[in-house]
Amino acid sequence: MKPWYRALLYVGTFPTDLVGWLTMVLVRALWGHDLKWVDGVLFVRLKKDSWFERTFYTRWAGTAIGHAVMLSDRSSTDVTVKHELVHVEQVEANGLLGLLCGAAAAPASWWLAFALWSLMPALAYVLAGCAALLRGESYYRGNHNEEAARAVAND
Ligand SMILES: [Zn+2]
Repeated sequence: MKPWYRALLYVGTFPTDLVGWLTMVLVRALWGHDLKWVDGVLFVRLKKDSWFERTFYTRWAGTAIGHAVMLSDRSSTDVTVKHELVHVEQVEANGLLGLLCGAAAAPASWWLAFALWSLMPALAYVLAGCAALLRGESYYRGNHNEEAARAVAND
């Protein structure tokens, strides 16, 4: 049983989670199977040979959007799940940052506050990719979020 205060992580990630949970339900309805909650994260697995798996998802093993994870049918489950759960933790941290920045901005603008809260996880990921580019590395492979996820998953 997880401690009650773990639920506070969902406050910071709530806007991202809404997008992630709705996306996974849509993916399940159109191209997936095996939609289930595991330890507070909604997982869906793509059907083998589904249109999405054969087109957009040929190069990916998994994707995390907040507390929601999509897995390819081709992926090695343990390694991919470990990798995606690192991204879930990154979203939790950046969601809290977004919530704090949003709270600071709220007196000036509620729209800015909501934008900071909801977009901070994605913004942090994009900026990490931009930093990798500025170092002369790949946007994806040099992104410190991906480096951390690969390091944990390949342990
Ligand atoms: Zn990744």
